[in-house]
Amino acid sequence: MKTQHKLKQQFSCEFFPPKTEKGMDNLFKAADILKKEINPEFFSVTFGAGGSTRETTFNAVTKIKQSTGCDVAPHLSCIGSSKEQLTEILDDYKNQGIKRIVTLRGDMPSGTVSQSDFNHANELVSFIRENYNNHFHLEVAAYPETHPQAENATQDLQNFVRKVNAGANSAITQYFYNIDSYFYFVENCEKAGLDIPIVPGIMPITNYSNLARFSSMCGAEIPQWLRRKLEAYSDDVDSIKDFGAEFVTSMCDKLLEMGAPGLHFYSMNQSEATLRIWNNLKL
Ligand code: FAD
Repeated sequence: MKTQHKLKQQFSCEFFPPKTEKGMDNLFKAADILKKEINPEFFSVTFGAGGSTRETTFNAVTKIKQSTGCDVAPHLSCIGSSKEQLTEILDDYKNQGIKRIVTLRGDMPSGTVSQSDFNHANELVSFIRENYNNHFHLEVAAYPETHPQAENATQDLQNFVRKVNAGANSAITQYFYNIDSYFYFVENCEKAGLDIPIVPGIMPITNYSNLARFSSMCGAEIPQWLRRKLEAYSDDVDSIKDFGAEFVTSMCDKLLEMGAPGLHFYSMNQSEATLRIWNNLKL
C-alpha cells in the first residue's frame, strides 16, 4: 500500500433507480440524510442490465443532483447498447453538468441481448476518452476476489490493468468481507504499475438471506465463520443489524487505518445501515 496512503480519503454512497414514485421519495429522503451526515464526494446510481433502466437512472441522477447539490455519478454499462445510444446518454449527462461516470461492461441481461458495440469495460473507457477527452472522471469496477467469469485471477488483473490504462481515474471494488483480499489486490495493482485510488466497496449487513443470494450471484465470498454467525441469528433481524454494524465498522476501521483511500457504501436506497457504520467510525 504505497500509493493509497497519499490520497485524501473519499466517501461515496450508491443507490439504484427506484421503479415507483414512492421509491423515489424514499430515495430522496435517504440522499438528504446521507448528504447532511456524511457529505459524500458523490452519490452514484446504478444502470440496469442491458440498459433496462436508462430513463429511470437518468431521472434519479438529475433529481438527486438538484435536490442535494451533491455530485452524482451515473453508472453506465456497454452491454446491450450501440455507440449511438451510449453517445446520446453521455451527451445528455454532459449537458446536465455530470462530471463522473462509473464505467462498466455491465451484468448480462436475462433473455436476448441487443446489439452491443463493445464487449468489455476497457472499450467503453477508451471510447469516452476519445470522444469526451477529460470531461468525465471515470470510475471502473475492481474485484479483489476475482470477477466470477474471469478465467483466472492473473488474467482478471491484466484485464483490470487494461481498463485503467485505457484512461480510468479511479476504481471501486466489489464488496468483500475478507480484507486481506483487498490489500493483496492493491499490492498486485501497484506491482503492475497502477497508482489510481482503489476504493473498497462496503456492503452493510442487514439481512442474511438477501446477502447470501446476492453474494453467490456476484462472486463475493461470505467467510464461513461469518456465514455461521449470521445463520445462527435466524430471523432475529435486530441482532443481525447490530452484529452487522459492529463487524462492518471494524472492517472499515482497519481498511482506513491501513491506507485505503476511502469507502464506497452500497447504501441500497436506505440511510440507516450506512449511517450506523459512519457514526461508529467517528471520522
Ligand atoms: P469488465 O471489466 O469488462 O470485465 C468483465 C469480465 O471480462 C471479467 O471477467 C474480466 O476479466 C474480463 N475482461 C475484461 N476485459 C477484457 C478484455 N478486453 N478481453 C477479455 N476479457 C476481458 N452491473 C450493472 O449491470 N449495473 C451497474 O450499475 C453495476 N454497477 C457496479 C458497480 C461496481 C462498483 C461494481 C464492482 C460492479 C457493478 N456492476 C454493475 C456489476 C458489473 O457490471 C458486473 O460485475 C459485470 O459482470 C462486469 O462488469 P465490469 O465493468 O467489471 O466488466
